[in-house]
Amino acid sequence: MDFSLTEEQSSFRKLFRDFAAKEVAKVAKHTDESEEPPLDLFNKAAQQGFFAAMIPEDLGGAALDPLSYTLLIEELAKACMSTAITIATHNSLVVYPIVSRGDDAQKENWLSVLAENAGALALNEPDAGSDTSRLSTRAKRTTDGYVLNGVKTWVTNAGIAKLLLVIAQADGGPTAFVIDPATPGVKIGHREPTTGLRGVTFHTVYFDAVGIAEADRLGNEGEGLSLLQTALSHFQLAIAAAALGLDEHAVAQGRAFAIERKQFGVSIATKQGLGNYFADAEINAEVLRHQIEYAAWLYEQGKDFAAAALKAKLFGAKAARETANHMLQVHGGYGFSDEYTISQLYRDARALDLLGGTPQVGRIAVWQEVFADSGVVIKP
Ligand SMILES: Cc1cc2nc3c(=O)[nH]c(=O)nc-3n(C[C@H](O)[C@H](O)[C@H](O)COP(=O)(O)OP(=O)(O)OC[C@H]3O[C@@H](n4cnc5c(N)ncnc54)[C@H](O)[C@@H]3O)c2cc1C
Repeated sequence: MDFSLTEEQSSFRKLFRDFAAKEVAKVAKHTDESEEPPLDLFNKAAQQGFFAAMIPEDLGGAALDPLSYTLLIEELAKACMSTAITIATHNSLVVYPIVSRGDDAQKENWLSVLAENAGALALNEPDAGSDTSRLSTRAKRTTDGYVLNGVKTWVTNAGIAKLLLVIAQADGGPTAFVIDPATPGVKIGHREPTTGLRGVTFHTVYFDAVGIAEADRLGNEGEGLSLLQTALSHFQLAIAAAALGLDEHAVAQGRAFAIERKQFGVSIATKQGLGNYFADAEINAEVLRHQIEYAAWLYEQGKDFAAAALKAKLFGAKAARETANHMLQVHGGYGFSDEYTISQLYRDARALDLLGGTPQVGRIAVWQEVFADSGVVIKP
């Protein structure tokens, strides 16, 4: 068993780390305060190939191996969670399904746009959250394609996306379509004011008699949810990497504060009540890194990595939330001030339990795994 990075992976990590330190970190605070997505930064990230991370080389992409992709998201998250989530959503939930399921013409048309611009996935609806069998957005057949009507909520990147991957009910069942948001009848509506990830745009999107060509259907009718499940596993691996990056960032903030801050005549870093927090954070980060490496290895080998990615995401979200909470406590009252970065990390960490599915629903699959072949039927 070899846990070392290849030379290529090491040089990728250096590139990602340098970019995060030089370009991402300097706009992170402004992004949170202004609540505006850092568009100049995204242009620079696109020039580095980060929006084309999942695109094959023959189509002009960076074709990162799975572990390198997790390193990209981890390094971005260490500097700015909003940037990491924008880029992870784009690559995992939009580019990856197109690369996996698109035909040659679709890949050529859509991936050239997505190499330079963000994409968004529109699945969630006002009455269909965890229960995706309740989708009511409808794609009705016409002579030369479909007409789409419905409302999607919580669409990450909707405010900046140049392509939307939409899951809608067609005659054959849930089906995926790729739509230009500039198409007549598409309206980007209300932006959610959020607790964290304030540089990410989450919008309600309306589809009012939107005409879609047959060629803009991704996969066959009825394949929408299986396509979604593949994308979700990919995203869960990326979310686990983002959790690791946030965890490391929070520890760095807590460590620096604890060294400087003196109480009872000594640095508070010497107090074991806080030392336990640092020890637990270190153990959690190590476990999470191994979970990510294992899931990425399965994916690299062409094996089913869904369960490993889900478990890494479930553990990572919990671990990062706990670490952010503990590192805020290390800051004492200052941790509750927005002038300290840890306050932002605490807010951003909360989203990890909501992105890519909730911990309650995610655990159902793990619970089902435990009771497999027992005769006990576990349903959501
Ligand atoms: C930051 C963020 C980004 C998002 N990005 C996107 C996006 O890009 N595209 C998109 O389409 N959607 C997106 N979503 C929506 C997200 O997928 C949903 O919020 C999520 O699936 C949960 O749905 P819901 O909010 O309707 O909650 P509900 O499904 O109504 O659940 C409410 C609560 O009940 C629990 N619950 C539900 N069913 C069960 C059950 N069977 N057993 C136990 N507990 C249960 C849930 O875990 C949750 O705690 C995003 C959401 C957030 C917060």
